[in-house]
Amino acid sequence: MPHQKPLYIPRRSRNLPAHVWRPLNRGIPEKWHAIARAKGYRIHRRIRDRLHLSLECLTCGALTAHKIYTLRTAQPACGGCREAVMHQNAAKAGVVLGERDAEHRHYALYTLPCGHEARLQRGRIARLAKEGPAEGRDGFYCPICHTKRLDRLASTWGWTLIGADTEGDLNYRLLWHDACGHSQRVATANLVTGRYDCGGCGESWASAPSTLYMMRFAVPGLGTFVKLGYSRYPGRRMHHQLGLRDDVVAELIDELPMPSGQVALRIEKGLHAQLRAEHAEKVIPRADLAPWINVTSEVYAPTAEPIIRRMIDALESPCWPRKTRLIS
Ligand SMILES: [Zn+2]
Ligand SMILES: [Zn+2]
Ligand SMILES: [Zn+2]
Repeated sequence: MPHQKPLYIPRRSRNLPAHVWRPLNRGIPEKWHAIARAKGYRIHRRIRDRLHLSLECLTCGALTAHKIYTLRTAQPACGGCREAVMHQNAAKAGVVLGERDAEHRHYALYTLPCGHEARLQRGRIARLAKEGPAEGRDGFYCPICHTKRLDRLASTWGWTLIGADTEGDLNYRLLWHDACGHSQRVATANLVTGRYDCGGCGESWASAPSTLYMMRFAVPGLGTFVKLGYSRYPGRRMHHQLGLRDDVVAELIDELPMPSGQVALRIEKGLHAQLRAEHAEKVIPRADLAPWINVTSEVYAPTAEPIIRRMIDALESPCWPRKTRLIS
């Protein structure tokens, strides 16, 4: 006869065929009932052989198979309560628990907020449930979305993502230079800034012309911010380069051509240092905007706009034209 409710099976016995857990008509000594009650269970019935019982949890009502020996000598774990905790942890961490990984008990399948499924460590989800999803963009990264993002970043610099690092370093990827066909390893951090050179054709981020810019961007529900930075390709590509979410509207409000990436970097660093020193109250904590924009330098309150504009004006020479355009 099948069990009324599903029977949770201890991990070490999950490889056994289902029929071994058949009900057994044997007596149950009164003493066992008392032990079970004291440990939060009711003895449902004897099962499998003379050594096993099915225990009903007094908290959640789930049935779990256990050895009589376990009932007598330890606190038997309830499979139902354990699964409920896993579901709760997943919900708190912002994911949905799918199937368990039968091979690796520390892992399970979860559906991420982006809709993709990922195999994650249960312990990690439990930690996130306790601490809240603070680490990274949403508390975890989706390998599929992450790869897409890296691919978009690479394309902003004129490269194509080929695949994983040839040396197995998780912080590197193998990239193909569209211009010359050379492939090489690039650190993912450098994919954000575009600060890497091509070993094939010698194209160098440091010597290539660049542009210092000020960008205004509006984050839904959070407000407007300004960013000062430099880019080899300011304009449409910046949306990807900065990892801006699609619902963020960005507008380039000032641009100043720079003779090289190296000069642009030096000037940008100097301006940020000056702003931090003289207008610390206008610096937005980077963590506040982490889910919306991927930046390695400061972002400022909109009141910093005229100040930054004056700084860029001061750098301007008559032969450097100025432009304004929409990049969203
Ligand atoms: Zn339970
Ligand atoms: Zn995803
Ligand atoms: Zn090249």
